[in-house]
Amino acid sequence: MGFFDKFKFSKLKEGLTKTKDDLFGKVNRLIKAKGKIDDDFLAQLEEIFISSDIGYDTAEVLITNIKERTSKDKYETEEELNGLIQDELKKIFAQSTSEFKTFDFNITKKPYVIMIVGVNGVGKTTSIGKLAYNFKNAGKSVVIGSADTFRAAANDQLEIWAKRAGVDIIQNPKSSDPAAVAFDTVKSAVTKGTDIVIIDTAGRLHNKSHLMEELKKIKRVIQKITPDIPNEIFLVIDATTGQNGLNQAKEFSKAMEGLTGIILTKLDGTAKGGIVIKISQEMGVPVRFIGVGEQIDDLQEFDSENFIKALFEK
Ligand code: GDP
Ligand code: GDP
Ligand code: MG
Repeated sequence: MGFFDKFKFSKLKEGLTKTKDDLFGKVNRLIKAKGKIDDDFLAQLEEIFISSDIGYDTAEVLITNIKERTSKDKYETEEELNGLIQDELKKIFAQSTSEFKTFDFNITKKPYVIMIVGVNGVGKTTSIGKLAYNFKNAGKSVVIGSADTFRAAANDQLEIWAKRAGVDIIQNPKSSDPAAVAFDTVKSAVTKGTDIVIIDTAGRLHNKSHLMEELKKIKRVIQKITPDIPNEIFLVIDATTGQNGLNQAKEFSKAMEGLTGIILTKLDGTAKGGIVIKISQEMGVPVRFIGVGEQIDDLQEFDSENFIKALFEK
């Protein structure tokens, strides 16, 4: 790892401290205590998985796979057991097929349009600021569209983040039509040759179906400019809300076609980081970014290798 990667990795470890101490502390203690895999070991391991928000179904898949492997091969040392569990955990994660893998990716057609959706308070606006900052650092031009026109303070908050990141923002304080703001943002990006468009949206309207209709309308209206956008729809989920957050996410994904990824925020605030594994398994949509703090540099590309490594490394 280079210096920067090491720095990012230690930030990730720091952000995952609570989860590491809880879930993976338990796994490590179990391995140490038992030292071999038998039915009792597997039963205890399953219990640890379930208690950590990994979820019953996912825990079962994991245990079945571990059982199968240990019936074929011998796993004897602590390291071998540890490695086996890490290996099986990694397999659970859905992988993204998008061209956007890292912030310096090659854009085949400009602008690359990213729509951000999710309920109120999950961290949409904050994550947009962080995404913009990362793109800027990777040498990309960015414009943010302020299409959360429902909450009065939303626009000011987004403006602060755009300033922090040093990127443009399109807002229309007089318009209460989010689709029009989104339209103007994409139009502006086309005219100026901007690389990246990020569209903020409302997380709450008068009622749920109203919100979903509005999000669909935003999509429909920007597609008048070019039919192959948005390139990404990221659903933001607050990791501290556990099953509740996952249920909300499922409702969103039912209503919004074409989700391409999940941004899982506030992982620093929970010991139940195992939720990443459950979300990956149950949503079938890859976790693309994780939030590990409130600062602008607290967003990381989700990398299942590093995630598991951060949790298991002593
Ligand atoms: P929105 O309503 O979805 O736009 O959510 P906001 O972006 O306004 O964020 C709501 C709150 O969550 C704010 O207080 C943020 O500082 C906080 N927040 C967002 N992401 C993270 C994160 O990764 N970690 C922590 N600890 N707080 C976060
Ligand atoms: P529909 O709701 O799918 O029938 O789409 P409309 O054609 O009625 O457009 C919906 C909204 O998109 C309008 O109210 C505008 O806010 C916005 N919109 C559509 N075309 C344009 C445009 O050329 N310029 C701007 N600024 N907004 C547009
Ligand atoms: Mg917001």
